[in-house]
Amino acid sequence: MKEDYYEVLGISKGATAGEIKKAYRKMALKYHPDKNPDDSSAEEKFKKAAEAYEVLSDADKKARYDQFGHQAFDGNGGGGFGGGGMNMDDIFSQFGDIFGGGFGGGGFSGFGGGGRQRVVKGSNLRIRVTLSLEDIANGVEKKIKVKRKIQAPDTTYKTCETCNGTGQVTRVTNTILGRMQTSAACPTCGGAGQSIDKKPSDADAQGLKVSEETVTVKIPAGVVDGMQLKVTGKGNDAPGNGIAGDLLVAIQEEEHATLKREGDNLHYDMYVSLPDAVLGNSKEIDTVTGKVRIKIEPGVQSGKILRLRGKGIPSINGYGKGDLLVHVNVWTPKTLSKKQKAFFESMREDEHFEPKPESSDKSFFEKVKDMFS
Ligand SMILES: [Zn+2]
Repeated sequence: MKEDYYEVLGISKGATAGEIKKAYRKMALKYHPDKNPDDSSAEEKFKKAAEAYEVLSDADKKARYDQFGHQAFDGNGGGGFGGGGMNMDDIFSQFGDIFGGGFGGGGFSGFGGGGRQRVVKGSNLRIRVTLSLEDIANGVEKKIKVKRKIQAPDTTYKTCETCNGTGQVTRVTNTILGRMQTSAACPTCGGAGQSIDKKPSDADAQGLKVSEETVTVKIPAGVVDGMQLKVTGKGNDAPGNGIAGDLLVAIQEEEHATLKREGDNLHYDMYVSLPDAVLGNSKEIDTVTGKVRIKIEPGVQSGKILRLRGKGIPSINGYGKGDLLVHVNVWTPKTLSKKQKAFFESMREDEHFEPKPESSDKSFFEKVKDMFS
């Protein structure tokens, strides 16, 4: 489970914008990587605080978080997925706001002592998983084979010679306004500040090689076709001390043989014979959790909708479940034997068979209105 953003910053849910800012400032100073070299737990806290502040300092994001929790951002139940897509670049760009700008000159220098380096992130990988309606209703763990680029074990890195490890190159150009100095990401190392020293022959130019891995993806109940889940750090590795990209998992929903999905509700067409409609019976129907026997009342009308509460799909946000709506269709045979025909002929004259709709036999339009109310 992901930690609560308010707990991360050590503040109460009612904290004001000023208190949130103050709390983050304190955390950022305490856990800043320059103050805690080689302490990965401090770096972790630093990143967590930055992520929490990123959400809680934004009125819109804060409102969504207060209502939906972490699911407001990553659309899943936690577990293997992190909403924390922030890299160090994002975090440092946040500092202008917190420390009133001029951060670089204020005693901190970013990483590595030199100028500020870019943290290079590996590329994302995309895959598609096809899920049955049953998988979607219950949530499922999928083991997926992915081919991702990893750092070749024997690759070694050295300080980039073009930028001397700063990750940036400065260009001076003469313009009519005088000499102008601009800086850009180093073209040799892409801003990482490092370049490859030695690499094995099977690695590519960045010192990476393809490896086949099995990634376990926890898919929460209630996902929707087209939804994308993120597995942090399971994309391609970045060269050197960069961070790996993410694995993006697109959900595809398989069509069910008998159940039709509409949001969190399901629909099932139940066909009832004329004798069963007249005399009543019980019938087995499909649900996403197995077969269920339901009762057919004597005299059931075609078009009636039976609502099985909570037999639909759980809401992705964790709030309740949809219903299963069973549509009754009385099936009328097209052909009859002589004997059957004679029976129905004799009933035709019987006034008892004249339609006499009661108010409970609602019209189609009233039923549709009911379904959406
Ligand atoms: Zn460089």
